[in-house]
Amino acid sequence: MDSVASMLEGLNAAQKAAVTSQSSVVQVLAPPGSGKTKTLTARVAYLISHLGMHPGNIIVCTFTVKAAREMRERLTALLGSETVNKLLLGTFHSISRRFLVTYGRHIQLNEKFGIADTSDSKSIVTRIIKRLGLTIDPKTARNRISTFKSKGTTAEQYAEETASKVQKRANAETVLRNQEIVAVYSGYEEHLRVSNLLDYDDLLVKCRELLRSHPSCVDHIQAVLIDEFQDTNHIQFDLMRRFSSARKVVTTVGDPDQSIYGWRSADVTNLKKMKENFPDLHVVNLEENYRSSGAILLAAQEIIEQDQSRPAKSLMPTHALGLSPVLRKLPRASKEAQWIVCELKRTIALTAGLLNWDDYAILLRSAALSRLIEKELGNHGIPYRMVGGHRFFDRYEVRLLLDYLRVIDLPGHTDALARVLNTPARQIGDGTMKVLLDEAASRQVSLWVIVRGIAQDSIKLTPKPKRSEDGKTKMVEQISKQAKRGLETFFNIIHTSRVKLDETSDDSLVQFIEWVVKKIGLLKHLKEKCTEEEELQGRWANVEELIANAEEAVTKEYEDERIPSHEEQDPPEPVDGSVPRSRVETLRKFLGNVALSTEAEQKEDGASTGHVTISTIHAAKGLEWPFVFIPAVYDGSIPHSRAEDNDEERRLLYVAMTRAQAMLYLSYPDKNSQQGATTLSHFLSSRNITQHFSIAGPTVKTEDVHEMSLILRRECPNVKSIAAAQERTRPREDKKFLKYSYNGEDMEYTDDDSEAESKKRKWNSTEGFVPPG
Ligand code: ATP
Ligand code: MG
Repeated sequence: MDSVASMLEGLNAAQKAAVTSQSSVVQVLAPPGSGKTKTLTARVAYLISHLGMHPGNIIVCTFTVKAAREMRERLTALLGSETVNKLLLGTFHSISRRFLVTYGRHIQLNEKFGIADTSDSKSIVTRIIKRLGLTIDPKTARNRISTFKSKGTTAEQYAEETASKVQKRANAETVLRNQEIVAVYSGYEEHLRVSNLLDYDDLLVKCRELLRSHPSCVDHIQAVLIDEFQDTNHIQFDLMRRFSSARKVVTTVGDPDQSIYGWRSADVTNLKKMKENFPDLHVVNLEENYRSSGAILLAAQEIIEQDQSRPAKSLMPTHALGLSPVLRKLPRASKEAQWIVCELKRTIALTAGLLNWDDYAILLRSAALSRLIEKELGNHGIPYRMVGGHRFFDRYEVRLLLDYLRVIDLPGHTDALARVLNTPARQIGDGTMKVLLDEAASRQVSLWVIVRGIAQDSIKLTPKPKRSEDGKTKMVEQISKQAKRGLETFFNIIHTSRVKLDETSDDSLVQFIEWVVKKIGLLKHLKEKCTEEEELQGRWANVEELIANAEEAVTKEYEDERIPSHEEQDPPEPVDGSVPRSRVETLRKFLGNVALSTEAEQKEDGASTGHVTISTIHAAKGLEWPFVFIPAVYDGSIPHSRAEDNDEERRLLYVAMTRAQAMLYLSYPDKNSQQGATTLSHFLSSRNITQHFSIAGPTVKTEDVHEMSLILRRECPNVKSIAAAQERTRPREDKKFLKYSYNGEDMEYTDDDSEAESKKRKWNSTEGFVPPG
């Protein structure tokens, strides 16, 4: 089979038409599970192997790091890793970062910039608010700043805007609030500039600035492909246009029904804007759904159709109807968690080898809902992984070591420096810290310059008058002798580490980090901090895990390859990523990857049978699992009480439901600790919707396993062992219908069976339902 035939294998006619389209601009608009991402991937392969494009000149933007990794795997199977490693494949942020590292000097950007991640940027904002004595909530301020940046409004522009509002006599309270935001925004920008940091928004803003003033940086780009286009924002649209300005070969795929990032300034009208910007756009619609069972699609369809403003479109199943999705009410959130875990254990045993833990996902409207579920999974020893949070990289010891490495890489990283200056303790207290920060602010230099100056005696702080107890005033040093010694020790660690990093030696990055760990005295510090041996071992294991991570980052090819600079485009063969790197470079790359891997994977101990995924719905976009649980489907959770856009919340539920392949479970607790009594989400409460769900009674049974295996396109395992498993895991016969027995172990998830019985009757009648309309 030739290579084109092999890459078109398994695609339907519409998908093939999109992959092989001779139009330079193609847009695929289609519902979930219809193969948009699959089509996009095949088009990348087609551009390379059929049209002869150079992979190093193709930009492929995915929404998450995980999606980039999956696409890389699929493409590697088609084209081989050597070719695929050359692609400019990643999120908008990682691709922008690569352009800035290579060409940032054209816009006077110091290419050694560090990245202020979300928590850095939160702490900067909080400090500025404190320093200026403002009243605004840091989170609100941070979000507003981010929104301004993603809309391209600078601090100066916003200052002018608010000034004009003042003249128009806007509401006094609003004026005051806006003025506070102006002050925080300006202070924040100044701080980033002095520390040579870019935040996530800046990566996009600066990249756009670069391409605006130096469009020749993308002269070599032959094609741009973008997944999940409905969730691009204004700047990303602009970046797409600029990336593709040389050849205008663009493929975008998306689905307006899945736009769920409006709250982050994503603009679904970008889909329509494609037609305005590229009049000869070839639009391809895909119809069949290859992911989910018919019953799941019927329920999902009913949800999305509540939005009457949307053009009618249906989900066409290619699979059998399968099992009805389940909707359950449990007495409390803890019981809900128990029920989920019970169902996980029961079905994995019942399906005897058809499924493993990787096949299950628990999708949450907000990450905070995970605690009880994590606890219950932990109680039963079920391995799980959190997506969309920084669990591993947020651990104290990991963060501490990373902060040291950040400072060694870039001493101007004031936030990292402020966090490690007195950890382990070096007698540098809050008072000293304030003196140092004030001095840095008044001299308009970074904190490092002050620390270095004091340690090397080139900066002397003038003594300040202080009134003693006897009422006399005398002059005292602003920094105590002990604190000065602490600063010297700290300076010494960072300085010698930087010298060592720069040395030419055969040591790897890993050996260097191990050396730094000793230099800091990290083990001793953790020993002092931990009260239990077990805790110490856990923390030390995390440090080792981080070091192993660095090893992977240097031995494995990097996810994001070096961007061939446009000077290198002639001769045409661009340079790929196999250039030997110095340790300075590898460290920076490692830190950059850490900052961008918002979905950092974490390794669990002894997890050979995979992990259950716990994820926010937002981070689950584009992904699929055989079994999906969506807990907490009550009003206030989904739609979220603070959400502004009801339709977006409904789409969120739709996105969550359409992740499921064979089995979907929705549930909610009757009571929760914040609200007291809860009510079923109004997206789900009408009879039209509930008729698609199974509300009571047993869920997956032996006789369902075969059909499930067809939906999953997997071999059906031994039916005998399934029957045996059914015997072990079936609901108890004693009419206590909400009780399950699993391998002899009772796993009940309601404490009052008579209550459960009466609820069952209630659910089965129409009593309690809000009639539609
Ligand atoms: P989403 O909108 O959720 O991102 P999508 O449109 O990108 O979905 P994919 O993830 O590309 O859909 O595909 C969904 C599933 O269907 C995948 O498992 C994919 O392998 C499978 N699939 C896609 N097209 C076909 C096809 N023509 N034949 C068989 N399976 C297919
Ligand atoms: Mg997709």
